[in-house]
Amino acid sequence: MLVDRQSFPRVKLCAGLFTQKSQQCLLELLGQDQYEECMAACLMSRESEFRLIKGQITLVTCHLNRPITLIDRPKFDAWLVNHYVSLGGQFYDGYELIGLDVEKNKVVFRNRDEVEYEYLIAADGANSMVERIVAKQYPKNFQRKAQSALSLEINVDRADVDVTGVNIYFDVVPNSYAWAFAKGEKVCLGLVKQPGDNTNVNEAMRQFLDGIKLRNQQNYPLQGAMIPVGNYMSRPVFCNIMFVGDAAGFVEPLTDEGIFYALQSGYLAAKSFEVGSTPTYHYLNHIPYLKRMIDMGRFYQRLLEKPWAVKQLYKHAGKHPGFVAFFYETRIEQGRLDPFWKILLNYKLKKKC
Ligand SMILES: Cc1cc2nc3c(=O)[nH]c(=O)nc-3n(C[C@H](O)[C@H](O)[C@H](O)COP(=O)(O)OP(=O)(O)OC[C@H]3O[C@@H](n4cnc5c(N)ncnc54)[C@H](O)[C@@H]3O)c2cc1C
Repeated sequence: MLVDRQSFPRVKLCAGLFTQKSQQCLLELLGQDQYEECMAACLMSRESEFRLIKGQITLVTCHLNRPITLIDRPKFDAWLVNHYVSLGGQFYDGYELIGLDVEKNKVVFRNRDEVEYEYLIAADGANSMVERIVAKQYPKNFQRKAQSALSLEINVDRADVDVTGVNIYFDVVPNSYAWAFAKGEKVCLGLVKQPGDNTNVNEAMRQFLDGIKLRNQQNYPLQGAMIPVGNYMSRPVFCNIMFVGDAAGFVEPLTDEGIFYALQSGYLAAKSFEVGSTPTYHYLNHIPYLKRMIDMGRFYQRLLEKPWAVKQLYKHAGKHPGFVAFFYETRIEQGRLDPFWKILLNYKLKKKC
């Protein structure tokens, strides 16, 4: 039984960068025909230009071999829910979980309905209500994920801003970045502020929008959402509850990529029931590799917090667009776990061939 407090398609802030590893995961879940149907329903654009920008200076422009896929998140999520229903799944929209009795395996919804569960999969996002209730009831036994980062985003008409491709802007917010993604008729603009940073995000966003010369700004009220980029839950299981996706804090800190981790952790949770007894145990056994991927993202995020590393990036990126593209494709799009020296070595070997 799938429940959500909203009806689909629902509003969902998300830049919609759908990496190759997310595509692979979805393809394995759906099979080729359904995958193509899903993509036809939500694909917004494929962009080959990838830029890193500092202030008004373009540090590097890369032309990627395989374009970046950008999707419409509300349409994507709605397609998945409809597909689940078409397969015979039960979906209850407008059901907001407001209470939970862990000992009696029972959830309570705002309309006062109560439902008993054998297992509960908490996929209720960055501000997970299930997490908050469990943390309140079991403060000593349950470890929450770390504080989330605040993100602002707007989707503007293509006519109102001169942007092409996928662009990442440094120097807008400390230790983080802003983005401008061309998505068909729209351009998605946003930024994310690290937890604990005191920057006035509204002000930073306005400056960013002025910097890229967005016209008719009054037409685009800023919208905000949380991204759980701090530490994930070390043990995303509590009694018969499994936490997946944002609820567990499964988001990559460098890129704020979460679609892949939501798909993959949801898939692993579902798969753990095929094994037979103790699915929670099997789920815990299968997630360490997701954690390793997130840890690798955290390693690069921490590097970006070091002035000497940022200086090196600014100094060398422009001279090596091929390497920047290779790093982006292998580390971020494909999610390969090679250490930096190996990425460099592989790049040099590939260049020689
Ligand atoms: C501005 C922004 C840009 C992003 N850009 C990207 C990107 O380009 N690429 C990428 O991969 N990731 C991106 N992310 C991250 C990505 O959107 C999330 O990691 C992903 O949506 C997590 O999916 P989820 O299913 O875990 O949670 P969600 O998509 O948040 O879904 C949670 C669901 O739970 C429901 N819910 C919540 N509380 C309750 C309740 N009490 N009762 C019932 N239902 C409830 C909600 O209605 C919602 O439908 C971005 C995030 C933000 C905020």
